[in-house]
Formats: sequence, structure tokens, C-alpha cells
Amino acid sequence: MGLRTILYGYRKEHLLFYIIPEEADIVRRIFREYISGKTMKSIADTLTGERTVYYKDKTTWTKNAVCRIIENEHYTGDMEYPEIITREEYMTANAMKSYKGGKREPDIPEIALLKRKMICAECGHRYTRRKHYYGTLERWECLNHCKSTFYLDDEELFGKLTKLLNLIIDNPNGLQYEQSCAEPYEPTLELIRQDREIDRMTEQKTPQFQPIKATIFNAASNRYDCCRLDPSKAVTDKLIEYVKTLEKSDSPDFELITRIVKTIIVHNDGTISIRFLNDRIVDEQEANKNAGNNDNSESCN
Ligand SMILES: [Zn+2]
Repeated sequence: MGLRTILYGYRKEHLLFYIIPEEADIVRRIFREYISGKTMKSIADTLTGERTVYYKDKTTWTKNAVCRIIENEHYTGDMEYPEIITREEYMTANAMKSYKGGKREPDIPEIALLKRKMICAECGHRYTRRKHYYGTLERWECLNHCKSTFYLDDEELFGKLTKLLNLIIDNPNGLQYEQSCAEPYEPTLELIRQDREIDRMTEQKTPQFQPIKATIFNAASNRYDCCRLDPSKAVTDKLIEYVKTLEKSDSPDFELITRIVKTIIVHNDGTISIRFLNDRIVDEQEANKNAGNNDNSESCN
């Protein structure tokens, strides 16, 4: 059978390489199909099935043969070889290949930091940043695959973070808890369970008064714990002191995020909230309101 010594798609004549049109079509097709998402194995199997000639009487295509074609830069044209595919197609296919092969570049520290801080408001899972094909489109999404109606890329995320951080730098006292418990309390899982239990008990045909009363009391005391006043005045004071020394910036200050941001919460409509070191949460709605009137003292129940 003999081994092919000249690159698939070409023939050599008087030291020069010339394109073999039928083979060049196969090369283009391999790139096209690979970029459209087919695997090397399925491309090889199809070519074998169609009895496409690889070399002389050889019509068996392997995954490796397809791989060698996708990796070969000569196809983009150079001093020796005329061009069969564009440089762009070559780069795209090879970016996909390294992506699929798991040879991903390590995260830069800023991205690693955001991955540690970002959580999904829906389910509490961490957020991750997926690179989509072509290695250029990135998207932040919930690791738990919560559905989202927005596309959060770096630019969008960085813009939102900058805006929120600048809001706090403009108005450091925004980190203070408003009087009473203006901060919406966060029910613990236990509290949610208790509330459901109370609903279940009261919905019964013959409600049992004593156990219901006991559960309601218990839940009330848990609820009180959830909305205690400024849980850490000292932390808040220090934080405000520090933020007063800062200047606004037009890109996210990652040093600042490392220091004073506990979590970045992403909601399913694409808005984000920042939970600061003292557990004060500032969100985009607040940013849009522009900290004008401060008399929204919600009660805690
Ligand atoms: Zn989620």
C-alpha cells in the first residue's frame, strides 16, 4: 500500500507543490465539519463510509489522519504550499481542538478571583466562565446550569462591578445599615423549613393548635435572629473608613474586590448585587436609584 509522503491535498512536480482539487475539497470539508461541531472520529468514519481515497487504494480514514490534517498549518498557504483553507478557519479549528482537549489556559488571577466570589442568586452555586468556541466569546454562567435570559460576558460584568463599586466610593455611608432593620433579612434554610411546616400544619383538616403555636413561636425567634441590627458595627466603621480613601475608577478594582467584597450575587435577570465584608448588600436597583432618599425603613417580619 505504501505510505503517503506528500501532504494530503497536494502533489509535487519539479520540487513544487500543486493542489489536487478533489483532495483540497476534502480538506475544506474536514475543516468545515469540524468547526460545525462534528468529532474527528465521526468525520473519519463518514469518509471511510464514502470510500474516499486517502492514498492510492487506501480508503480507511482514522481519527489521527483527520487530526493531522486539522493541525497542519501548511494548508493556510506558505512559501511551499498553495493555500487550501483560510488562516481564520485554521485558527478556529485549532482553538476548538485545544478547547475540546481540555488544554485550557489557566485563569488569570482576576478571573480566578471572580470565580471564587460569584454565586447564583437562584441556587447558591458558584458561577463559572465558559469559553465558547473560537476562544473569543466568554460567558459567565451558573455551575448548576440555572436558566438565564441574559448573556453575561466580561465586558458586561466588569461594567456592572465598576458601577457598583463606584457607587460605594461615591457614598461610603451606603455601607451602613439603615436604622432598624432596613436590610431585608435573609431567611435561613431552617426558617424556610419551619414556614413550610406551619403552612402544612394549618392546612390540615383538623389543625393541632398546640404544635402549631410552638412552631410559630420557634420560627418567630429564628426570624428575629435573622434580622438583628448591624451585626458588626466595628467592621462597618472600618470599611467606611477605608472606602473613603479610595478613588473611583473606570474598570473594576480587583484589589478592592479582594479586600472588601464577600460575594457577588448574580440574579437570573442578569443584574448583580455585591455583598460587602459587613454583609451589607448593594444592588443595581439601588445604584440606579442613586442613593437619593433614605426613608425606606422596612420593618422586619
Ligand atoms: Zn444557579
